[in-house]
This record gives sequence, C-alpha cells and structure tokens, in this order.
Amino acid sequence: MHSAPQMSGEHEEEVAARFLDASSRGDEGQVMSLLSAVPSLLDRTCPRGWTALMLAARNGHLGVVQTLLRHGCDKNRVNSSGQSASDVARFWGHKDVAVVLGEREEDGVGFENYFGDEPLDRLSAKRADAVWLEDRKKHPDTVFLLFSDLSPMLHRDQQGVQHLCRLGYEAVKDLVEKPDCVLVFLGVEKKKRRRSATTGMESVSGELPAWFAISGVEEDGASLLGRCPHGERKCSFATAPHRDLLNLGDEDAGVLAPARALLAWHRRYAFCSTCGGATVSEEGGHKRTCRRQQCPSNKGIHNTCYPRTDPVVIMLVVHPDGNQCLLGRKTIFPAGMFSCLAGFVEPGETLEAAARREVREESGVQIGGVRYVSCQPWPMPSQLMIGCHCVAVTSYVSVDRSEIEDARWFQRQQVAEALLGGGSHPGPGPVQSGLVLPPKQTIAHQLLRHWISMSANL
Ligand code: ZN
Ligand code: MG
Repeated sequence: MHSAPQMSGEHEEEVAARFLDASSRGDEGQVMSLLSAVPSLLDRTCPRGWTALMLAARNGHLGVVQTLLRHGCDKNRVNSSGQSASDVARFWGHKDVAVVLGEREEDGVGFENYFGDEPLDRLSAKRADAVWLEDRKKHPDTVFLLFSDLSPMLHRDQQGVQHLCRLGYEAVKDLVEKPDCVLVFLGVEKKKRRRSATTGMESVSGELPAWFAISGVEEDGASLLGRCPHGERKCSFATAPHRDLLNLGDEDAGVLAPARALLAWHRRYAFCSTCGGATVSEEGGHKRTCRRQQCPSNKGIHNTCYPRTDPVVIMLVVHPDGNQCLLGRKTIFPAGMFSCLAGFVEPGETLEAAARREVREESGVQIGGVRYVSCQPWPMPSQLMIGCHCVAVTSYVSVDRSEIEDARWFQRQQVAEALLGGGSHPGPGPVQSGLVLPPKQTIAHQLLRHWISMSANL
C-alpha cells in the first residue's frame, strides 16, 4: 500500500529517498503516486548525483524509465562520474532501456561503434527481384561506389575530410556490363535522406535512391580515377585500409562495412567450396550459386553459398581489484601500443566460453563473469567484433608468446591518461606516457573508454 507523502509529517528528504528507492526497485505505482503529489521530485538526485532515471536504468526497469520520460525528466543529466542514464543502461546491458534513452531519436536506435551505422535500408526482399534491380541500376539517382583491389574510391573535400566517392550510372555503365564485374546491391537510402546523393535533387519517381558497390574490373586504379565526378586529382584509392578507412564520416563507414566485406567475399570465394566448380553471383551479389546442377551445395540447407561473417570476441578484462585492466600487444603493433585481447569464436562454442578460453590461452588469466557490451562490424575482411567486459578471478599473467608479444595489467589512471592524452595513435612526436591505445574508431578503444567512464560509482 503506497501512502501519499504527508508533507507536514514527513521530511522532504525522506520523500525524495522513497522516490529514488521506488525507481531503483522498479515500483512504477509508487513512482507515479509520489510524482503526482510532489512533481519537483522528478530530477532529484541522491548524493552521488544519481537521478531516479539513472537508478531505474541501472536495474533495467523499462516501465519506470518510460514513466519518468513521459513526465519530462532530464535524460541528459549526468551523475558525479559523468554518466548519463543511457551510459548506465548500456553498461549494465539493458538494451531495451538504452534504446528508449538513445540519442539518435530519428530512428529510435543508435549505433555504438565506427562501421556500425546503418544509413541504408538493405531491402533484402528485393535482392531476388532481377527486374527491379536492373531498373534501379540504370536510374539516374542511383549511387555507385567503385572499388579497386577492395579499396573504395575516396575524395577529399575542401576541409580535408574524406568521403566515399559517389558515381552515377553514366560514369560506370561500361564497367557494370563487363562479365568480370562484381556488382553488389547495398540497399536504398532511408527516408530522411531522400535528396539524391549524385544530383542533389529530390527523387522524382518517389523511389529512394539505390546504392551499389562495384569491383572486380580489370581496369587499373589510375584509370578508374578518371571517372571521378570531382576530378581525378581530388580522388584516390585507399592504400592502407587499416589507416585510410578509419577516417570516414559515420554514414560512409556504415555503408563501407557491408560493401567491402561482400566484395572481399566475392574475391575469395570465386569457386564452389563443395565441388570446386565455377559459381555465379546472384541475388544482387548476396549469394554465389554453383553452376553444376547436381552439386550437393544446390540441395538442402548449407552455408556455403552465402557471404560469411566471422565472430570474434574482444575482451576488456578487469582485475579482481577492479582498478586495473589486462591489455596485450602483438609484434605488429606500433611501439607502445596495447589493446584488448581478442580471438575467433570456434564452432560449437558460446561467446562466454570463447572469451574465457582466449584470455586463458593468451595470458593465463582465468575470468569469471562475461558481460556483452557492444559489437562492431570490421570489414577487413569480415569479422563481427563482439565486445565484452570480463572480471578476472586470478591475476597471475603467463604470456603465450606464439600468439602475442606481451600482456600486462594497467592501472585505471594510466589508461585514463592515455585516453585523454589522445594517446591513441602513434603521433609524430615521442611517445609520452609509454602506453598507446588503439584509435577511437576501434571497439577496443570504446571498451576501455566505457570502463574508465564507469568508475566505482556503479
Ligand atoms: Zn559445386
Ligand atoms: Mg587467440
């Protein structure tokens, strides 16, 4: 039975405490009755700066979160550790709550990592519609991304920002008709981007502009650049994908991820893996079918005809004392760089088991709880990086030198300084603190940032 607060008899502090406690427990009825009696409770905080919204987000109480939002609470407020309710929900894995608290309100869902944006609607149902695809291919609004050796054509604008170069059908129609051309249908622009990317005009037909990626043509890179609408001198093909493809805007990166992964698949899987025969690209480049009718790959359920995605677990391992994390380095890393441990998930293995096995194999450390944080498509060539926070139950490190060069515990303070000092790329100057972290476009960086932002105040 919830009693309305007796303002005369009950101290205001006590009412606030009851309100915050009800939010934390997910008691929607009490939250509503207290709010209607004392509206000023809405954005009240407890001593560590936590609002009712943060407490409800902490414990995944979607109903209370929605009630508080309906009453107009301030969802952008941060606690004394700088975390918003959305940060708290994400940290504790309450995805439904995080979506409701999401910052990108236009589509109701956000993305958390570079390469993770979805600016196109993939329209998978249209992939088998050859007539529709043929028609879209020739439409003046259609955007083509041209790749040479799996590198997209890029152009640099006057501010020096890199973009994917968008070509129209006229610039590529001779390539598209060549037999060696691999053409992949990427999807159509979402409604809010109805303006055509190539002409700057509103789409006349009402159909949203379609995007394709092209590769596999014999023409060399230098001559392909001549097709660029911005003039060949402003354009280039990326030469070092791990560097050049990390400097795009979020939307371009989100289109590039599936485009590059699919083109890489076409290049590596030209022949049937069952019989070795020739295959043909189908369904807008989302399937390769064996030409031999009697091939077993043409019957029953199997996974050899479809593009692959390889799951990789990547772990931020927190020391049992909560104040250090385990990072490793490979010999190929730039000087001073350490990153999260990672490894491929094996067949028949859960993510949790893969995380435990990889950490044990590479560092000798045993981990207990594994909590999923966020993931990142990584189109080099086609991994899905599954980011987890793990809690270690042992701390002795014994490095497997055949896999990595070194693994060590790093103090929270040292990691925070490396993050803040921009120590996330080997700059031209001397390495200052010694520790260099991967750039912000990587999920490893985001897992570390996440851990640093989540202090003991959780
Ligand atoms: Zn076959
Ligand atoms: Mg490994």
